[in-house]
This record gives sequence, C-alpha cells and structure tokens, in this order.
Amino acid sequence: MKNSLLSQRDLAVLWHPCTQMHDHETQPLIPIKSGHGVWLEDFEGNHYLDAISSWWVNLFGHANPIINAALKAQLDNLEHVIFAGFTHEAAIELAEKLVAITPAGLSRCFYADNGSAAVEVALKMSFHFWQNRGQSRKTKFITLENSYHGETLGALAVGDVALYKKTYAPLLMDVITAPSPDCYFRDEGESWADYSTRQFAHIERILQENANEVCAVIVEPLVQCAGGMRMYDAIYLKLLRATCDKYNVHLIADEIAVGFGRTGTLFACEQADISPDFLCLSKGLTGGYLPLSAVLTTNDIYAAFYDDYSKLTAFLHSHSYTGNALACRAALATLGIFETQNVLGNNQVLAATMKTLSQRFLNHPNVAEVRQTGMIVAIELVKNKRTREAYPWQERRGLQVYRYALSKGVLLRPLGNVIYFIPPYVITPEELALMFDVAWQAITA
Ligand code: PMP
Repeated sequence: MKNSLLSQRDLAVLWHPCTQMHDHETQPLIPIKSGHGVWLEDFEGNHYLDAISSWWVNLFGHANPIINAALKAQLDNLEHVIFAGFTHEAAIELAEKLVAITPAGLSRCFYADNGSAAVEVALKMSFHFWQNRGQSRKTKFITLENSYHGETLGALAVGDVALYKKTYAPLLMDVITAPSPDCYFRDEGESWADYSTRQFAHIERILQENANEVCAVIVEPLVQCAGGMRMYDAIYLKLLRATCDKYNVHLIADEIAVGFGRTGTLFACEQADISPDFLCLSKGLTGGYLPLSAVLTTNDIYAAFYDDYSKLTAFLHSHSYTGNALACRAALATLGIFETQNVLGNNQVLAATMKTLSQRFLNHPNVAEVRQTGMIVAIELVKNKRTREAYPWQERRGLQVYRYALSKGVLLRPLGNVIYFIPPYVITPEELALMFDVAWQAITA
C-alpha cells in the first residue's frame, strides 16, 4: 500500500533520469525504505539484491557502518564551505591520498561534484593548457567509438552512444571518433591483445594526421561501460600512451566507472602501467554515498596555469559544491576501507566466483559472449548465436529481464541486450549465485 501511495506522489511531481516516464503507466516505481549491504528494501518488505551497485557507485554496501560513522562525525563539525579562498581538512587529506594512490606523476587534484563535470573539467583544462602554451590550433578531441563520458554537452560530445547523443547532435562540438578496440568484434580465435593491437592502427593514423589540432584523446580504460560493458586489452592503453607522447597530445583516462578496484587493480590504468595526463574519478570515490568527483593531473599542466593574475591564465572553472566536506569525508572513509581491508585480494576471489558462475551462460542458445574484467561480468544476448544478429531494440529484451529479475528480488538493469553484473564488493558467494541464477531464469523466461 505504502509502495503505491509513494509511487503515485512521485509520478505526480517527479521526472526520473534515463526514463521514458510513460513506461511507469505499466511498470511500477519501487520506493525504497532502506538499504543494508547489497540489499534494498521497499515499503512492503520486498528485498532487492543491488547487482549493479546503484549505477556502479556503491562499493561497500548500503548503510556501511564505517562510512556512516565518518559522516556523522563530519556533520557535527562542517557540512560545507566555499572552496575558493577557503579550504578544510577533509578536502586536503583526500587530495593527498588521491595523489598518493593514483598512477605516478598525477600530483594535483581538482574537485567537481559528478562524473560529467569531471569530464568537462578535464576537457577544458586540456584545451586551456594548450592555449596557455601558445598552441592555439589545438582545439579538438579524439574519442573512441561506443564510448560514454557523461551527458552534459561537452561530455556528451566526446561520447559516442547514439541513444543519448543523436538528438542533441546539433548542439555538440565536433570530435574525431576512432574505431574502438572493443574485443566483441575480434575474429574467431583472435586474442584480446591481438585485436586491440590491430585496432590501435586506426587511432595511430588519426593522431599522426591530426595531432597539431588535437588537445587530447579521452578513453574509458579497459571497459566501455555504458556502451554495453564492452572490453579491450590493456595493450591498447600502453600503445596509446606512447603515441600521445610522441605526438604531443594529452591522454584523459575516464575511470569514473572503472576506478577503485572494479577491474582488479585499484585503477584500470595500472594494468597498462601508464599514467594519463588527466584522471577523472567519481562514482565509487565516495563509496556510493555522495556526489563528488576529482580530476587528477600533472605538475606540468598545473604549471601552465600558474602565473601572475594579470596574465589571465587561471583556470576559472567552478561549481558551488566543489570539495564538499561531507562528500570528501565519505571518500576518505571509503579509501580507509581499502587501506585496512584486503579489498583487492577479496575481489579476486569474488571475481573468480563470478567467472565460474557465469560459464553456464556460454551454452545458452541466445548468448553470443560472456566477458569479464575483474568485478564486471557481461552477457551479450543475441537473436542468432551463429551470426550474432542482435535482437531488435524494439523488443526491449533487457526490460523483460529487468522485470523478471525484480520479481525474483534481484536488481539488474541491462543495457539494451547486455545483461551485466557490477555488484558491491561486500557481496557473498551465495548472493553471487542467487544473482546469476535469477539472471539465468530471466533470460530463459
Ligand atoms: N564517465 C563514465 C565512464 C561513466 O560511466 C559515467 C556515468 N555512467 C560518467 C562519466 C558520468 O558520470 P555522472 O553520471 O556522475 O555524470
């Protein structure tokens, strides 16, 4: 009863993200009363296993006691303060920690308050760096096919998922789009590394031909998440880093979705042993508690903005909630869990369990591929396994899986025909088994 009352009130005044609101004429909204660990509970006592970490943000469970305690303590001292001219301990300590744990050479931290904003900051900083250095011809960005970097206009422009981008195309800056290293398209028997290396030739040529006009290449390291959890080999990042250096172009690593242990290492770039010029972080940064993002960059880039005021070289980008104290405190508590618990080791065990549990899907007649990078598993549903013909989007297969899984107490949120799992790191092997079982039933049903 309470569920439907709240739902009615919601639908009378609210407009939800990434939603055709008309769908809610038939698809009930689910008001959530509380969350504990990997479980969400509605007002009628139904429980839902959060298999997608609430849009990939939650790392250590809902209502995590460690993060809760840190936030409560912070709340009694300082909730927020203007971050220009003023500073506070949580922001300083967090920046120190981020500089220490991110790849070598990243020594400056600029805060914003969501992932898209971090991408905007990185794009603007890169462009502005070249302006400050007198290279005014550098105005373009290179992105990969099927990439996603957020939905504000700049971030949307450097993304390539038509569903989100096409409508707004007339509003967006021109970018150069390189073929993706996405290994779904490799030849039979070809390794990920071979395919990603082969695909690198495209962007190498693009860089060779356009470097004089290019500020930066932006990539999602290892996994193109919103693009359907498409994956590629770390060799691509290694080659890209070397080629960006060769042609004097920045590399922006958008680890908003893949950072903080999701791919097996703390940051995905580590698997290629590279440091980007800009590293964008958000989502898991606060353990899924509060909106916060950070852009890490190098001394060299910072130095290009540092001068007498009259030179007008400062980076004047600002958001009201920059460096929010509560969000920084949640992030510090989250990093504290990484420091005190063997999170990456434990994730290795969980990832191995996910691998075992996902193998049965390989034999399903409508599964073209089961792929995995660390704690991300994705299952590609197709109409025809042999030809890999996709289901027409109009059939909304993913939505059917979503509905079925919900009825069995698991929150999956497929991306089109891709069913994926990005669970919080506190999930148990039994809960993983439940998650995969329900997905199997959902696909079969
Ligand atoms: N970059 C990547 C790789 C993302 O996955 C997302 C969010 N899904 C964003 C940027 C945008 O982050 P936000 O939703 O916080 O704006």
